[in-house]
Amino acid sequence: MQTLVQLVYPPRCLSCGGLVETDFGLCGTCWRDTPFIAGLSCDLCGTALPGQSDRAEHCDDCLKTERPWTKGRAAIQYKDKGRRIVLALKHGDRQDIAKPAAKWMARVSRDMVLDNMLAVPIPLHLHRHLARRYNQSALLAEALAAELGIEWSPDALARPSATPSLEGKTREERFDTLSGGLIVPPKRVEQVAGRPILIVDDVMTSGATLAAAAEACLAVGASQVFVSVLARVAKDP
Ligand SMILES: [Zn+2]
Ligand SMILES: [Zn+2]
Repeated sequence: MQTLVQLVYPPRCLSCGGLVETDFGLCGTCWRDTPFIAGLSCDLCGTALPGQSDRAEHCDDCLKTERPWTKGRAAIQYKDKGRRIVLALKHGDRQDIAKPAAKWMARVSRDMVLDNMLAVPIPLHLHRHLARRYNQSALLAEALAAELGIEWSPDALARPSATPSLEGKTREERFDTLSGGLIVPPKRVEQVAGRPILIVDDVMTSGATLAAAAEACLAVGASQVFVSVLARVAKDP
């Protein structure tokens, strides 16, 4: 079946449309032109670091900003062709990009995998979901979970649909309601509690959304939280 599909629809480079020979999704030229993160990278956010090291290193951002997760990885830098690929997946109705992109993410994320790990995407805002009809982070989470051989849950993180009344809530509950805007909904608490969680998103910029997601998972008893993103926005050195 796979062979027949490939005969009828030979794999195309997801960037330039040229024919490709592997399922990594890019032709040789586009592969070279895409800013993959290889070599030394920050152990918390995946951003590329200069030099070499035999221990875990952290970038300036992660030294300054506390990250409520254990480790993080990024496949590509959010610039040039890397940025164009992310925007095509996000706004260009190019859902076909998710599978090869998840293979790139799996290459750098495999060393974080733990027993019983659960992959969970960052949810869209409701109005964005309606306008776009799909959540690119959910597509990535599903494909990445398949690559890594772990479970995934499309809705273990959620944005409360309307701001609930603050009346009768504890101080902590009020803070949660007003700050992160991400929760593990009651029906998913049992799924998240006691296990390692891999939070998946397309882009990490400041990391604030990922931090809110990690805190929501830890608040309901996740054992540890890890992060895997397709692209990391790096400041120019
Ligand atoms: Zn190409
Ligand atoms: Zn970092």
